[in-house]
Amino acid sequence: MLNFVFLGPPGSGKGTQSAKLIEDFGFIHLSTGDIFRAELKSGSALGLEAKGYLDSGLLVPDDVVIRMIEQKLDASPANAGFIFDGFPRTQVQAEALDNLLELKGMPLQFVVLLEVPDSILRERLTERAKTSGRSDDANPEIIEKRIRVYQNETFPLIDFYGNQGKLNRVAGVGHIDEIYARIRLSLHI
Ligand code: AMP
Repeated sequence: MLNFVFLGPPGSGKGTQSAKLIEDFGFIHLSTGDIFRAELKSGSALGLEAKGYLDSGLLVPDDVVIRMIEQKLDASPANAGFIFDGFPRTQVQAEALDNLLELKGMPLQFVVLLEVPDSILRERLTERAKTSGRSDDANPEIIEKRIRVYQNETFPLIDFYGNQGKLNRVAGVGHIDEIYARIRLSLHI
């Protein structure tokens, strides 16, 4: 079993690369953004609670996200491992994830940081807006806000996981398959 976190700003390719890894290795994908969007679509209380944050590019409060991940972990059968995508995004979330996984006896092995320059993120998100149907991709101001939120709230996790010796930096630019090969190398798979 291999559990790892995909760290990286919005538009860095976490979702795209997760899809390839899932197809090849059967990991379970826990993408908090995808889960919130699905909850919103189904009109659940959780979706309604998250809506304002998603629309404005702000982070959903830690306790809501942590509770949700805990439920998803409990509900998931034994498997090849989990990809945490878009989670954790704050130090509080990272500490909670460490505790949850320790309790389950299946610690995080790696953190893959996809590094992409901001100018490319803006281009990718604007392009993605044409097909994603995501209002937070379609609005340049919200894109800027999400990049800033990443820098302010999530950037400190680079040191957090660096200090744990788990951080692998991967250049997230170039052809999708090239990036995928770099990721597999960093995960030793
Ligand atoms: P994403 O699909 O990862 O870009 O996430 C879309 C939005 O969902 C974010 O802008 C946040 O509003 C919310 N979100 C996703 N993951 C988290 C998280 N781990 N903590 C707080 N908010 C989150």
